Amino acid sequence: MRPSFRNRARSCVRRAGAPRTRAAPEELRTFIECAGRAVEVLARRQPRAKRLVLRLPQGLPRAVVSVPPGVALEEGIAFAERRRDWIARHLSRRGEAVAFAHGVEIPFRGVPHLVMHVPGRRGTVWREEQAGVRRLCVAGAEEHLPRRLTDWLKKQARRELLKSCRKYAAAMGARFSRLSVRDQKSRWGSCSSNGTLSFSWRVILAPDFVLDYLAAHEVAHLLEMNHSPRFWRLVDAHCPHWKEAERWLKEHGAGLHLVGAT
Ligand SMILES: [Zn+2]
Repeated sequence: MRPSFRNRARSCVRRAGAPRTRAAPEELRTFIECAGRAVEVLARRQPRAKRLVLRLPQGLPRAVVSVPPGVALEEGIAFAERRRDWIARHLSRRGEAVAFAHGVEIPFRGVPHLVMHVPGRRGTVWREEQAGVRRLCVAGAEEHLPRRLTDWLKKQARRELLKSCRKYAAAMGARFSRLSVRDQKSRWGSCSSNGTLSFSWRVILAPDFVLDYLAAHEVAHLLEMNHSPRFWRLVDAHCPHWKEAERWLKEHGAGLHLVGAT
C-alpha cells in the first residue's frame, strides 16, 4: 500500500462515538514574531480543555492554543507569545530528520513524547508522565540510546499490530502465519502469499487508529490480494475509519520517516 497522512486523536475520539454536534469553536487569530519569522497563532476555545495547551500542527508555520472555558482567548495568544523561543526552535526543525537523542521530541502512538536519557538506572526503556510532559526514558550508556529506543519501539509496534491483526483476522475469517516488523521505507505494510504480514516499525509513531487501519488493510489482503472494489468493501465493512487513516497518512506519513533517521 502507498504511504501518506492527516488528522489525529480527534478522529479516534469521534470513532469512539463522541457526538459531533457542537457549534464551530470560538477563535482568535493573530501573527507573532518568532526568531525573525511571522508565525500565525490561532487561539481556539476548547470546551473540554483543562488548561492552555500549545501545539504546532504538522505542515504549517502555525501555533494552535487550546483555551479552556472561562479563560479569555487573548490569554491564549499571550501564552504563545511567552513561548516564542520554543515555537521558533520547533518550527526550525520541521522537515529535518530527528535522530534519537536526549531531549528530542518524537511522536509515540500519535502523542508527542520527550526522549530522556536516564544514566545510572537499570532497565531499558519506559514511559512516564511528569507535570503533563510525556517522556520516553532510556537507561544505560548514552551511545546505546538510539538502538535501545528503536528496539523498544519495534517491540511496541509488534505488540499493537499483533493485537489489531488478530482482531481483524478473527472478524474477516482470515489466517496469517507470521507477523514481522521491519525497517521498510517504501511501504507501511505488506502481505505475502504464504500468509506473512510485514510492517514498518514506524507505524507505532502514528495515532492508534492509523496503525489499526494498516493492520486491517494487510489482513484483508490475505483474502483479496489486490486493491479491487471487493478488497475495499472488505476493509470498509470491518474498519470504517480507513478513509480518515488514509488521509492522515497522506498528510503526515512522510514525516514519520524522518523520525529515528540515522
Ligand atoms: Zn494494499
